Amino acid sequence: MDSIISAEIPDKVVDKDYYNVVEEFMIHGPCGPARTKSPCMVNGRCSKHFPKRFVELSNWDEDGYPIYMRRDDGRTILKNGVELDNRYVVPHNRYLLLKYRAHINVEWCNQSRSIKYLFKYVNKGNDRVTAEFYKSTTDEHSNEVVDEISIQLFEDDDRIDNVLNRPTVGQSMFTGWFDANKRFDVAKGLTYIDMPTKFVWKKDIREWHPRKRGFSIGRIFYVPPGSGEIYYLRCLLNVVRGPTNFEDIMTFEGVKYPSFRDACYARGLLDDDKEYIDAINEASHWSTAQAMRKLFVILLTSNLVIRPENVWNAVWQHLSEDAQFNRRRVLQKEDLILSDDDKKNLCLIELEKLLQLYNKSLKDYPQMPLPNFDDAWLVLIIDCCLRNWLMIVKLYMKRVK
Ligand SMILES: [Zn+2]
Repeated sequence: MDSIISAEIPDKVVDKDYYNVVEEFMIHGPCGPARTKSPCMVNGRCSKHFPKRFVELSNWDEDGYPIYMRRDDGRTILKNGVELDNRYVVPHNRYLLLKYRAHINVEWCNQSRSIKYLFKYVNKGNDRVTAEFYKSTTDEHSNEVVDEISIQLFEDDDRIDNVLNRPTVGQSMFTGWFDANKRFDVAKGLTYIDMPTKFVWKKDIREWHPRKRGFSIGRIFYVPPGSGEIYYLRCLLNVVRGPTNFEDIMTFEGVKYPSFRDACYARGLLDDDKEYIDAINEASHWSTAQAMRKLFVILLTSNLVIRPENVWNAVWQHLSEDAQFNRRRVLQKEDLILSDDDKKNLCLIELEKLLQLYNKSLKDYPQMPLPNFDDAWLVLIIDCCLRNWLMIVKLYMKRVK
């Protein structure tokens, strides 16, 4: 980290140029008691948490937040009449600073939150809808009869005759996979998501062809549990290799099952609520903790989960990953460290709040642990402070009683 990021005042004699740009662009403040009207000051405190602490050696806290080296070496820079030391240096990269001569804050990002933000749009897939065209008529008993017309895919500039006469109309990448499995031995060893590693989808002729060079990564869009058969089909696509039709996907060890769900069971994919653990683990790559808590609560309230405590034990870290960040913000303590028990407890409180919206409580799920409101008392007080003064008085009176 030290080779990339510095948060110290450079040596004025040895590296004059560098010293000058740090002085001009990378010193925060003055603020705090010296300048209470500084724009960074919110409620009497620096909203950017300056001055930082003196630190002898760069390191990371246990959640991976960087703590930059800021030695108490006596170097200062005079800014607007105030002497500012290493505690006021904004983290930066020497090369970028000298090249662009502008304020460029460089931070070490290995928090899941930052990584998710960067990659969210890559992983989440496009926003999409499924549209269907159909016309309906009525039969002799005046019942509605729906006559579905299959959807045909075409490019904007395709000629309509060509589209309609194309023998492969209706051939999707997915059904193209079945064909490839009939034609190529190599394809038979691949799952659907692995296809792009060895094959290229030729859009114009709608066929998979062996890849001559290069490498590509496949992606299947996310399907939440509770979507029915399409969800179970997607589960199967992670394991089934070389099917040549939908029946093959439903078949396991020579037995054809009546639905994708049954095939999932036969393969042991649904034992121990593993499907739900997988669903939350998968969502954790791009989803926020709050969204995952909602998903968990939906699973609870829809009674889909057989042993909720198993799922909780497997995924609580995802569901509570914002707990420390939120407590730090609420308590204005930048280096607050929560224990695992604290995180679980705060997360259970959030789950309880969400369940209340469905007129449910964690008490309705006997195997689930219950939150301990006592431990979270101070946190609740501060939460309430921000929201409702009356509420805090009421809660306090109750506590005193
Ligand atoms: Zn400030």
